[in-house]
Amino acid sequence: MLIADAPTTALDGSIPALVLEIIKEMQKKLGLAMMLITHNLGVVAEITKRVHIFYGGRVVESGPTEDVFINPQHPYTRALFDSIPSIEKDKTRLETIPGNVPRLINPPKGCRFHPRCKYATEICSRERPEDVWLGPKRRVACHHYEELDLDVDEKTIRERVKIKEEV
Ligand code: SF4
Repeated sequence: MLIADAPTTALDGSIPALVLEIIKEMQKKLGLAMMLITHNLGVVAEITKRVHIFYGGRVVESGPTEDVFINPQHPYTRALFDSIPSIEKDKTRLETIPGNVPRLINPPKGCRFHPRCKYATEICSRERPEDVWLGPKRRVACHHYEELDLDVDEKTIRERVKIKEEV
């Protein structure tokens, strides 16, 4: 297995694309499985088939990459997509997620995302949401995922993170 931890971080210009090409080539040539760890959603879209979204030391959502990108079920996943800059959006300010990442030595009770989540209710600060399986390879951990309409406009997200048709 090839573990690539933030392989494109701090690289400029065309170097990230080159690094990704080398990784893909190695993977193909040697028949390796690969685990990629990154904050870059464009890189995830470019070379992965499955994605696990982590927040506060826990997987909050996972599934086939394209499905998670087009149809996010967790408010944190949706907030990540909303914070990707786009030259097509008529905005003067970047979208951000308010607050700070939790200190894992003393994480928030209940859902660890609740102090920053715009959909949080009382139960979120009290009870840890269980993993809910939405399909054989698709799961989410949120008390309110069924009530939220978090679908991303497919065209927009394809343009913003360049999901390949074959992913
Ligand atoms: S469980 Fe509550 S706080 Fe956590 S992501 Fe879902 S709505 Fe937000």
